[in-house]
Amino acid sequence: MRFGILSDIHGNLEALDAVLGALEGERIDRYLCLGDIVGYGASPNECLDLVTGLTTVVIAGNHDHAAIGKLDIATFNPFAAEAARWTRRQLTPAGRRYLAELPYTRRIGDLYAVHASPADPPAWHYLTSLGRVIEGFEALPAGVTVCVLGHTHSPGIFESRIAEDRCREVPAQVHVMALESRYIVNVGSVGQPRDGDPRAAYCVFDVGEGRLEIKRVSYDVETAQRKIRAAGLPDLLAERLAHGR
Ligand code: ZN
Repeated sequence: MRFGILSDIHGNLEALDAVLGALEGERIDRYLCLGDIVGYGASPNECLDLVTGLTTVVIAGNHDHAAIGKLDIATFNPFAAEAARWTRRQLTPAGRRYLAELPYTRRIGDLYAVHASPADPPAWHYLTSLGRVIEGFEALPAGVTVCVLGHTHSPGIFESRIAEDRCREVPAQVHVMALESRYIVNVGSVGQPRDGDPRAAYCVFDVGEGRLEIKRVSYDVETAQRKIRAAGLPDLLAERLAHGR
């Protein structure tokens, strides 16, 4: 079984198209989407259509909830709040209903999917410290060996060695899983990377080979930027795509 895992598309159709194109040659059996399909980018409905046609395994993100009024945008920075209000106006009634019904988590065998953190998913914690990552590992259901998530827009693989009671970030984008270890994989962001690399990020998980891979693909940033500006969204949201920040 090979999973193709996408997160934080954020209405960026150009980035999503590039990722789906790259995944065409990957012999993917099943796709997962870890939330934040909308928010920031200029193509929320187009991205929703593509994701719903791709998979039924889709998790709710905080921006999906903000766009339908399920999350108070008072917690958002002014640019994110403006994008959430704009997105709210664009969504179709069917799109709103779809986003409202997304679950916070899904389990597929030993694989667990969540948007932000397995520890209290609706609190949308950012796994930006090792303490938060350890808290995430502790919250995983028994039997789960791999948890995939997004939310920070910075990809990374974290390993918890059960016998040694030790947790570390794996210093590689490709990792062959060790027995007796559990993993939290931040798959990064398709539509708005923030790790300094502007290329779209996604993950391929080969269960049989125990192989976790974070991959990158270039996309048409200029077109995505032009559409953000044409929509009247904050210029910063276009500008940051060029820098991956
Ligand atoms: Zn996001």
